[in-house]
Amino acid sequence: MSDLAAVRCFNHPEREAAARCPRCRRHFCRECVTEHDGRMLCASCIVALAGEAAKLQPRRDWREALRPVGRLLRLAAGVLAAWAFFYSLGQTFALWPEASHAARSAAEATTAPPAGAGDKPASPDGAPR
Ligand SMILES: [Zn+2]
Ligand SMILES: [Zn+2]
Repeated sequence: MSDLAAVRCFNHPEREAAARCPRCRRHFCRECVTEHDGRMLCASCIVALAGEAAKLQPRRDWREALRPVGRLLRLAAGVLAAWAFFYSLGQTFALWPEASHAARSAAEATTAPPAGAGDKPASPDGAPR
C-alpha cells in the first residue's frame, strides 16, 4: 500500500494514484479512471476501447452475421439446382406422355365414332389397370 501511495497519477503528478489501469498498466487518480465493464480504466484507454469497438465490432458483426447467410445461400443454391434438375427432369418425362396423349386424343376426337355407336375405342391411358 505504501507502493501505491508513492505512485502518482499519470496525468496529475501532484496527486496520488488511486487505481491502476489494467489495460495500459499506468497509475491514475480517482478522477482519471472510469469504471468500464467492471474494470477501472483510464480515460485514454476508454477512448481507445471505444474507437476499437466502433471500428472493429461492426465489421466483425457484419461478417459474422453474413456468414450464416452465405451458408444458407449456398445451401439454397444447391437445393435450387437440385430442384431445377429434378424439375426439368420431371418436366421432360411429364411432357412426353402429355404430348402423345394430347395427340392421341386429338386424333381420337376427329376419327372416333360418336358415342353409342357400339364400337368401344381402346384407350390405354384412360383405362384403369
Ligand atoms: Zn489505461
Ligand atoms: Zn489524475
